[in-house]
Amino acid sequence: MIRLKISGFLVAAVFGALGSSFISSCSPPPLEGVTSYEGARLIVGDGSPPIENGIIIVDNTEIIAVGVSDNIDVPLGAKRVNLSGKTIMPTIVDTHVHVRQTPDELEQDLKRRAYFGVSAAMSLGLDSPEIVALRERSITDAARLFSAGLGITAPERRSFAPYLTPYQITTEDEGRKSVQEQAAMDVDIIKIWVDDRGGKYAKLTPNLYTSIIDEANIHGIRVTAHIFTLEDAKGLIKSGVSSFAHSIRDMDVDDEVMDLLSKKPDFVLVPNLGSRGIVKDLAWLRGIVTEAELANLEENNTDRPEVEEAFGIQARNLSKINDAGVIIGFGTDGNRPWGPHDEMEDMVFAGMTPMEVITSATGNSAAFLNMENSGTLNTGKIANFIVLDSDPLDDITNTRAIASVYLNGKEVDRTVYP
Ligand SMILES: [Zn+2]
Repeated sequence: MIRLKISGFLVAAVFGALGSSFISSCSPPPLEGVTSYEGARLIVGDGSPPIENGIIIVDNTEIIAVGVSDNIDVPLGAKRVNLSGKTIMPTIVDTHVHVRQTPDELEQDLKRRAYFGVSAAMSLGLDSPEIVALRERSITDAARLFSAGLGITAPERRSFAPYLTPYQITTEDEGRKSVQEQAAMDVDIIKIWVDDRGGKYAKLTPNLYTSIIDEANIHGIRVTAHIFTLEDAKGLIKSGVSSFAHSIRDMDVDDEVMDLLSKKPDFVLVPNLGSRGIVKDLAWLRGIVTEAELANLEENNTDRPEVEEAFGIQARNLSKINDAGVIIGFGTDGNRPWGPHDEMEDMVFAGMTPMEVITSATGNSAAFLNMENSGTLNTGKIANFIVLDSDPLDDITNTRAIASVYLNGKEVDRTVYP
């Protein structure tokens, strides 16, 4: 990559020097694979202020320069794309999904996500070994798959269909053995559920989840927990869990949990807010998803005061935890490729700024998945970005105004919804 970068600029420098005497009357030869995207507002994805009249120069798959247009020279022969009036943000990383379980369905799930500007998705704990192995498959115009393999819970005696049933353990040995089996497949994270589902089932006890976290540490793998209660949140933070795949939902957070979080600077909270319990405007999906799917969504698109109240607890908790400086990651749960745009709206409603929400959904979540080369619009990163017709910092629902999506420097074919 470095060699490519140097050769590109060398060519530009040589032709630049010869320009007046040698090639004054002809246009420079095309600089293969180098494109300059010019004039847009840039949202970098790390929380820094937006760059007005920005420029991004891409050499094949890699960003080789970013900044204010006036400050950066375009290499001679680069293809130039005028994006004045547009806004560019990094692609979205969704760290909590559940993909379908055949190779063809998985491919469709990942292509649909790319259509909506999602470059990576982590499937959290209901995946077969075959699906885990498909992380290596390279698909054009598709989000990259991460997987927690099969997660671990207590005997819940409920159906996980159409997904695989996770490990349902009752002893520390079973917990450790489950982690070992998943570690052997090199899963991206270990998923556990600590939730009695409203008193209906047993849940993992502190000694069980502590041994799971300990075994995962031995294998150098992090653990993320589906939680519900404040009490379990405290126990898990004390036991060294790396993240929550949902936030605290039974009551408002207290000083003790805020104090525990303040001592864990690497901890990542994925709020994954769930339904807001109010009627949402789904018109923006018309013409993208099928009419049948839209009708199905509309059927469940109702005002439910009890859900709205439950959402209120989560919203207040997210606002407080975010204000305290805890790293906020991004996840949507389930299998809604368009869900990130809905979730971002809800996170702003909960009290985060549009900039904080975009940082959560891009830079923070890419870092959470250890995607060192992705997540922000910086030199040296992979060219994964979304071009928007309007500015999401004005109105977060403008993330839906997608003009184009670029993955690995190549424009995703969005003529047909996959
Ligand atoms: Zn989930």
